[in-house]
Amino acid sequence: MGVTRTKSPKYTRSLPFTHRNWRFADGPSMRFQASAFSPCSRVAKLVTRLGSSWPRLVHAVLPNLCALCGNLSQSALCRGCDDAYANEARLRCSVCAVPLPSSRRGRGAGYRCADCVAIAPPFDATLVLADYRAPLDTLAVGLKFRARLMLADEFAQRLARLASEWPDLIAPVPLAARRLVERGYNQAWQIAKPLARALRVRSDATLIARVIETAPQSRLDLDARRQNVGRAFEVTAPVRGLHVAVVDDVMTTGATLEALAHVLKAAGARRVTNFVALRTPKN
Ligand SMILES: [Zn+2]
Ligand SMILES: [Zn+2]
Repeated sequence: MGVTRTKSPKYTRSLPFTHRNWRFADGPSMRFQASAFSPCSRVAKLVTRLGSSWPRLVHAVLPNLCALCGNLSQSALCRGCDDAYANEARLRCSVCAVPLPSSRRGRGAGYRCADCVAIAPPFDATLVLADYRAPLDTLAVGLKFRARLMLADEFAQRLARLASEWPDLIAPVPLAARRLVERGYNQAWQIAKPLARALRVRSDATLIARVIETAPQSRLDLDARRQNVGRAFEVTAPVRGLHVAVVDDVMTTGATLEALAHVLKAAGARRVTNFVALRTPKN
């Protein structure tokens, strides 16, 4: 035919097949190439022109499976799961986003938890979508360990709707180089990229670098986590006077986000806001 099709080498497939179950580490872009003398060159040119828009076209036409219940759905979550799990009204600390007792509702905006009142963290605000618990935790696990990258886009669109103060610059929590090689992508950057696009804000995947390889945080308590990441990061570009947004998929104790905010503030950042998909209900 004289038409060759190339696609990103990193993809995984889960059952059953729909177009959205194919997940591409670098986006689902496909390019078509053809010789100018090929009888198929006209077709190839048309396909090339459609190349940038076909994922959206396919997306609009073919059904998807709800990431939670597996029912057919046009979006990542079906209406039922969205209503049941993803829109829980929760009163949260405006600084660290830990859930607060609902008895504090009605005393004005900008609540702070006792911990943030006692010792203010280096970040100024945290926005989260929901608690990290069943069944929504499966979304974060799917994104992080099963390369379900469409979920990052879903998280990003929802986080964008929470923003009230626009950051100047968006950066992900960096992965250790070894883990980046193992996984092939940084799930926080997969959320940060579409979030930046939705907010029309500049993003920088390498704004914060991990300069020390740290032990996995999940095995440590809060003090050990703080020590573990205390000097792990470095800011690689000027941030003086900027409002920087830091993006992560899951927030547990907040020790990593504290460490990042600390280096950003030390580098002159005016304000640091965390955008996090899911947060554990307690530190
Ligand atoms: Zn569902
Ligand atoms: Zn707090």
